[in-house]
Amino acid sequence: MDNNGSQKKDFDVITVGAGMAGLYMLHKLRAQGFSAIGLEAGDDVGGTWYWNRYPGARCDIESLDYSYSFDPELEKVWQWSERYATQPEILRYLQFVADRYDLRRDIRFSSKVERADWDDSTSKWRITTANGDSLTCQYYVMATGCLSLPKEPDVKGVERFTGQTYFTNRWPHEGVDFTDMRVAVIGTGSSGIQSIPLIAEQASQLTVFQRTANYAAPANNGPVRPEHREKLNADREAYREEGRWSRAGVPLPRSEEPYSSVNLEERQRRLEAGFAQGDLLTINSSFSDLVTNAAANESVQDFFRDKVRAKVTDPKTAEDLCAKDFPLFTKRLCLETNYFKTFNLPHTKLVNLRRTPIASITETGIDTTDESMEFDAIVFATGFDAMTGAIVAVDIRGRDGISLKDVWEEGPKTYLGLNVHGFPNFFTITGPGSPSVLSNMVVSIEQHVNWLTAAFEHLRKEGFQTIEATSAAQDGWITHVNDFANLTLYPVANSWYMGANVPGKPRVFLPYIGGVDTYRQACNEVVEQDYLGFEQCGTSGSRCNEGVIRFVKPDVQMVLDAIAGLEQPPLDTLSPIQAREQIEANTANRAPGPEVGEVLDGSLPGPAGSLNYRLYRPATAGPHPIVVYYHGGGWVLGHASSDDPFCRYLCTQANALVISVNYRHAPETRFPAAVEDAFEALNWIGNNAESLGGAPNKLSVAGWSAGGNLATVMCQLALKQGGPNINGQLLVCPVTDCDFSTASYNENAEGYILTRNLMEWFWNQYCKAEDRKDPRASPLRAESLVDLPPAMVVTAELDPLRDEGNAYAAALQNAGVIVEHIQAPGQIHTSLTAVDMVTSANDVRQAMSDAVRAFAK
Ligand code: NAP
Repeated sequence: MDNNGSQKKDFDVITVGAGMAGLYMLHKLRAQGFSAIGLEAGDDVGGTWYWNRYPGARCDIESLDYSYSFDPELEKVWQWSERYATQPEILRYLQFVADRYDLRRDIRFSSKVERADWDDSTSKWRITTANGDSLTCQYYVMATGCLSLPKEPDVKGVERFTGQTYFTNRWPHEGVDFTDMRVAVIGTGSSGIQSIPLIAEQASQLTVFQRTANYAAPANNGPVRPEHREKLNADREAYREEGRWSRAGVPLPRSEEPYSSVNLEERQRRLEAGFAQGDLLTINSSFSDLVTNAAANESVQDFFRDKVRAKVTDPKTAEDLCAKDFPLFTKRLCLETNYFKTFNLPHTKLVNLRRTPIASITETGIDTTDESMEFDAIVFATGFDAMTGAIVAVDIRGRDGISLKDVWEEGPKTYLGLNVHGFPNFFTITGPGSPSVLSNMVVSIEQHVNWLTAAFEHLRKEGFQTIEATSAAQDGWITHVNDFANLTLYPVANSWYMGANVPGKPRVFLPYIGGVDTYRQACNEVVEQDYLGFEQCGTSGSRCNEGVIRFVKPDVQMVLDAIAGLEQPPLDTLSPIQAREQIEANTANRAPGPEVGEVLDGSLPGPAGSLNYRLYRPATAGPHPIVVYYHGGGWVLGHASSDDPFCRYLCTQANALVISVNYRHAPETRFPAAVEDAFEALNWIGNNAESLGGAPNKLSVAGWSAGGNLATVMCQLALKQGGPNINGQLLVCPVTDCDFSTASYNENAEGYILTRNLMEWFWNQYCKAEDRKDPRASPLRAESLVDLPPAMVVTAELDPLRDEGNAYAAALQNAGVIVEHIQAPGQIHTSLTAVDMVTSANDVRQAMSDAVRAFAK
């Protein structure tokens, strides 16, 4: 039955948009027996490729990759003529797809959707179009694209111009002839960079108004690369699968090597090869850290700028065309064909709006602060209200009439970029919070359509009518999306990724930068866990496996993955000597931590022989407050310099003299030897504070893990024995008790480096069972904590020791001690002290160093 123009008014699914996403959605839905209709504002299929008809419009992902993979036959019958196909060819492809699968009969064209209202009583959406259609559906899918709503031209006087005005993203279908015209182009993003060389071929005069110069690599377009076609033809499914499980949706090897680890010659070779390759991804994939390491990024920026200088003859114009305002890749890299060389033509001129901004558009041209120019035509290549604009352009009302626009006022909130809490059965294809624009869109579209149609099938089978993200699952996902973005340089740029191109739009990183592979894995796991974080409801009841799909901080997860990749035996299966060797080997190449003024190794008299210490002195003038630091390692592993990066961090950030003291280890010497050594060292440092360069009476203690245990035991002993006077205690993931029955021991028994088994092994090495309840081993069991020094207690959510740390913080508080307590979400036992490796703990670390500063006041 033909849905287009028929009187049918109720559907299983209404999908908005007949671009790449909408077409595939309709095809899939039909194959799965759902009644569906597509509503499209334009009068034909094509989406982006229907509207963006400006001269020079092409894809910037190679056409072989930028095509559907769902039907091997389609891939055989359609052959791309160029590596980067033109807009007309891509549009023909989408028309071909629409015809081949007879999709037009289920699409209503010239049907702009204006409203969508959820009706809880019927569990349906009512969709209203500008031409008065009112349709209902169970599932409402926005397949409206990420770059479809043009940004309003926010240039003063735009309405005054009496010449011809064009927008690259709403280009006349009949084309434009600029012959003998004086043309202005405003905007130098991808659209400007693609169209400017072609407009220059026709115009008698071309003036380009550039506010921000962009990085661009040469497209090196031509016929499809034979080796590319061969690779695809050799094993299509394997090739496509590789793309689906890649970082950006294109099969491409990815280097694990940081920029600084590669020698100069090899760096240059990779950059040149990437540039010659002529694509968006190769250079970025040639090193592991170009979007996370500012210094590496800066160096590659120079490479790009030098390429511009080599192409553009006039040095001033060349300098103006060099991108300088944002890190490379943090706005989408452009692919250019003759763009820079166009500025060598005598009739082409660049106006740098940073120097001479537009004062106003006039009746006859454009006035900058410097000159008046007359034009016959102005082309706006000024971009889009990206990712959210087209979605909230529809007045979407969820449960209780809540407006999506209001819910998204401070930035989009989604679960997986697919659904929004409060909006049951509403979905976005490649919505904010999914890889979308940071990936090959076709791969991401196919993944979303496949996921959604499988979900619809599942709900039908299970007898559920609605599905909706829970608030907790959505919050967790938003945190994860932001955590990932914050590991990169992307938030620095005023890009459309950040919503920064549209005045008044909240500054939030819109897509998901964890990668197509990582994202796909998360979506799959959601399904495997019975649609984790989705509430599924039907007439006979509801079901919800509540939870957060990614709760480990992304950089912590990278550390866990790297350690898992080593395939080492668990420490608790080794002898203490072997365990020490393994840890030393693993930490040999770790990031060193910040520079300090001075590092001094020394020894002090202990109760049973001398004890080594390492002293870290700030570069600032002393005397400094002293922090006596006790290293971690379960009383078995480690030494005075084993927490080197963290000690350096505390030294520089808290401006304190940090003295990390060694103590005798188990099993060679067991409890209470470590306690005795730690206390003797504390006394010696207290007595020698001035000669060490410390400020008298400004002594605090700090420690991580077993070191945290010793640090607080020191506070208890010092109080009992009348000295020394301790100003404060920083306890990082401390061992405070010998009880293994806490919830955190069960929840985090395995998988987060410090395991339950390992902790049992440590205790067994350290302390006889009958001694463990001694407060010098289990300080939580002390009779009283009254009058202990102020404390900062930091625990990690995913640590077996979390609950005993939390219990200690609470016990201190109950005893009237001033306590600052942070439980760090998504962190593990070892990540809080992993300076430079786990940057997601930077805030917590900053709070620790602030606390140490405060102890000394
Ligand atoms: P864009 O990247 O947002 O670029 C817009 C340009 O207009 C920028 O140079 C911007 O300057 C300038 N601009 C905006 N408002 C202005 C104003 N009031 N005064 C002066 N200049 C102003 O938009 P786009 O070029 O259309 O590209 C958007 C995205 O679409 C691309 O990043 C890409 O993802 C996609 N696209 C892809 C292709 C392709 O090759 N397949 C082609 C076109 C587009 P500022 O930077 O200073 O804001």
